[in-house]
This record gives sequence, structure tokens and C-alpha cells, in this order.
Amino acid sequence: MSKVKSSETVKVVVRCRPLNRKEAAGVTGTPGGRGGIVEMDVHRGQVVLRNPRALPGEPQKTFTFDSVYDASSRQRDLYDETVRPLIHSVLDGFNGTIFAYGQTGTGKTYTMQGAWLEPERRISRSAADRQYLVRASYLEIYREEIRDLLDPNLRESPESGVYVRDLTSCVCKSVKEIEELMNLGNQVRSVGATDMNEHSSRSHTLFLITVECSQMGPDGRQHIRVGRLNLVDLAGSERQAKTGVHGERLKEAAKINLSLSALGNVISALADGRSGHVPYRDSKLTRLLQDSLGGNAKTVMVATLGPAPQHYEETLTTLRYANRAK
Ligand code: ADP
Ligand code: MG
Repeated sequence: MSKVKSSETVKVVVRCRPLNRKEAAGVTGTPGGRGGIVEMDVHRGQVVLRNPRALPGEPQKTFTFDSVYDASSRQRDLYDETVRPLIHSVLDGFNGTIFAYGQTGTGKTYTMQGAWLEPERRISRSAADRQYLVRASYLEIYREEIRDLLDPNLRESPESGVYVRDLTSCVCKSVKEIEELMNLGNQVRSVGATDMNEHSSRSHTLFLITVECSQMGPDGRQHIRVGRLNLVDLAGSERQAKTGVHGERLKEAAKINLSLSALGNVISALADGRSGHVPYRDSKLTRLLQDSLGGNAKTVMVATLGPAPQHYEETLTTLRYANRAK
């Protein structure tokens, strides 16, 4: 197998959301209420993180990524530069995954929305000799258990282990139908969750879009290519409080940390290009996505940040995680 250049296989980008109104009220002296502690040089792909408690003369922390998106960035900017190449390779029959990683409240879900709006345009523009079939599945990993959000009765059986085959998949004819499916799945998610915010910060959701393209070849025969796009909205990366958490909650927190670090290990092994041993088996998430990570598959990791000074430590942790994944 020929080695694909790692930078084409794995892209790591960072996005910072604007200060929200409450935060802006607490941060004075930042022009336009935008600044906070995160500064970005979008041309260089650099992030400078200012420590609000830095000692005089202490150097600021600077990180460089494939791209960075500041508070004024639009969904469109991220799409055009970072997401489009991945989507197009899915339409050409390869697998691709977009991860959103970051502390709860920094824009993971916001950023993931709209990432798949473009394919429809290309699909609907498709030539008469080419037909697309789009199917979607929606699942959640909560406490290392997989739940099919389109068929809540279908849970992973302990014997069969990780499966994707048995997942419900629904044919979608438009973006509207995809959105309806997501809404349906979100309703299933919220059932039984006493606090939905809490639940969503502790589970990974995977929205899988399979695109089958059948096209008349020069040999006069029908050829079929299948690509899959995985949109992964990860559990919040915030460190779980160690005090006041016991029993089940503590175990749950440990599982989240474990699966996020397992993902980091897989991505950094792939980005290294020395993918002799890629530790896919260390978590449900990486096992489930194994055939979409590495090989000809493209991966984009979007690390999301908030600019508020009180989250300095968490923001630094997110930048370090993203930096390692490069
Ligand atoms: P997460 O999924 O990481 O917990 P959300 O996507 O729910 O975070 O975002 C938290 C809040 O911040 C939401 O109200 C969302 O609309 C807002 N937000 C996030 N990112 C941006 C952005 N880039 N621009 C404007 N608002 C944003
Ligand atoms: Mg979210």
C-alpha cells in the first residue's frame, strides 16, 4: 500500500467561538468583546494563549495547526477550506471522519451542524449517468455502550461486540430528511436523561452518512462506489471533578477520559505515518471507526475553544491534545 502523506490524511484545525454575553461582561478591555485569552493568526495557522495569571516575562504559549478559525469565522470558511476535500473524497467512494473535540460549551455541536450541506448540491447536480443513494445512521456511545438512536430497542449485544452492520440506516433524499432523522434521534437521546446537557457532555454521538454512487463506466457497465462520512460529536473534554464524585459517576468519568485518550493515540499514530501499530482496540469509538481511520480515509479533527479567562487550564489542555494529534 502506498503511503499517503500524513498531512493529507489527518488535518487538525482549531476554532474559537466568540465570548458570549455573560463572559463579555466579565472581560474588560478586550476590543469588540472578542479577544479573551485566545489570539489567532489565521494566515500562519497560529494560536497564542494568554495566561491570565502569568508572571511578568513569562512567555505565552503558541501552537500551530493546519488551519485556525477565529471568533469571526463562519461555517462557510471552515467548510470551504477544511471540510470540502473530505466530503469530496467520500463522494468518490472513500471514508472520512470529522471529530469535534473540546470542552462542553465551546461549539462542538454548533460546528458540526451544516458540515454536510454541500454534498446535496453536488448530488442534485449529478449527471444523468450517475445516481446517488444516501443513507444515514445515528448512534451514541454512552458509558462505552452503543445505542442505536434510530431504533432505541436495538442495543449492542455483549457477545457480538462492536458492530455497524446491524445499525438502522434510513434512506435520505434531501438535507431536510437528514435533519429530521437527527431530530428523531435527539428525542430518543433525551428520553431517560434527567439532564440533557449533562448527558450530551458525557456521550459521543456518531452520525454516519453512507453515499453510494452508481455510474455507467466506459465499459458500458454500472459501477458502484461506496463512501462513508462519520460526523463525531465527542463527549466534553473537561476534566471531571475528582472531588464529590463517587461510584458510577466516577467510573463514567474514567471511561470518557479513556476513550478520548485512546482516540488521541490512534490519531497521532496515523498522523505520524508510522502506522505500524495503531491502537484501535483500546476503545469502542476507535474500534467502531476502525475502517474509517487510516488507509485512504481522511480525518479532520476540529478542536473547539472558548476565549474566557476562567477556562485557561481547560483551553490549554485542548490545545495540547490537538497539538499531539497533528
Ligand atoms: P458544545 O457542543 O461544545 O457543548 P455548543 O455547540 O452547544 O457547544 O455551543 C455552545 C453555545 O455557543 C451555543 O449557544 C452556540 O450557539 C454558541 N456557539 C458555539 N460556537 C459558536 C460560534 N463559532 N459562533 C457563534 N456562536 C457559537
Ligand atoms: Mg454539544
